[in-house]
Amino acid sequence: MPLTLGRFTVHAVSDGTIALDGGAMFGVVPKVLWEQYLPADERNRVRLALRCLLVVDGPRRILIDDGAGTRWDGKLRDRFGLLAPSALDSQLQALGLSRGDITDVVLTHLHFDHAGGTTVDADGQPSLSFPNATYHLQRRHWKWAHQPSDRDAGSFRSEDFRALESSGRLHLLEGATELYPGLHLFCAEGHTVGLQLVRLETDDGTLVFLGDLIPTTAHLRTPWVAAYDLYPLTAIEEKKQLLAQAIEERWLLFFEHDPDVACCTVKEQGGYAAIDRVVPL
Ligand SMILES: [Zn+2]
Repeated sequence: MPLTLGRFTVHAVSDGTIALDGGAMFGVVPKVLWEQYLPADERNRVRLALRCLLVVDGPRRILIDDGAGTRWDGKLRDRFGLLAPSALDSQLQALGLSRGDITDVVLTHLHFDHAGGTTVDADGQPSLSFPNATYHLQRRHWKWAHQPSDRDAGSFRSEDFRALESSGRLHLLEGATELYPGLHLFCAEGHTVGLQLVRLETDDGTLVFLGDLIPTTAHLRTPWVAAYDLYPLTAIEEKKQLLAQAIEERWLLFFEHDPDVACCTVKEQGGYAAIDRVVPL
């Protein structure tokens, strides 16, 4: 169900789901606590959404992240529980859109579960999935993704984004900016270097795309940060600040990875933010 916010219409568009190790998703939090929110399968994996956001702004169709994509062999598809290849295509079709209609892709970062859909294989060669789009990414993250640390190298697949280099369609950004009127990009550095998130500011209210800063509603508890985060103390501070403002100003929060909740408002409860009202999207 689309949501109208000021002059924006926003749709949740799913690229299916992914199964990631539950321990990695919750860092130092004991399993007996996190499994109450996200039950693990027999391989200790939790099922997570790959939920992108489509923002329609007049003639612009802006996709925030593009999922895991289709370029997966059977072994990796099994490891990550990728069940629905091309889910994004069918979701766009249901909205009467094709890949060529996307004018902008905002990539929060280049981890394979966020930017894997940037390329498709055409005649054995990776080519851009959204041929008419401009791709927006922070320059610091672009650099980092080409030389990640040993700790996070496994989160990048360089073939996902190599086609961007020579495409002329890559727009590298230098920090926070208002990309289009009311569509703000801001940076968070706890998860990875130069992560960018999206805030839609309108007279009807504010919606924030949380990406990997707060991947699921279970992660609303500020100390619950993923082992994937490069700088967990930074992530905790960033979450605290964002959630305090979200409670105060009744922001709509959009979750990329929560298996059940796409969007909600939050309230203070027991010292942390908690779901107040689930907003259908
Ligand atoms: Zn990530």
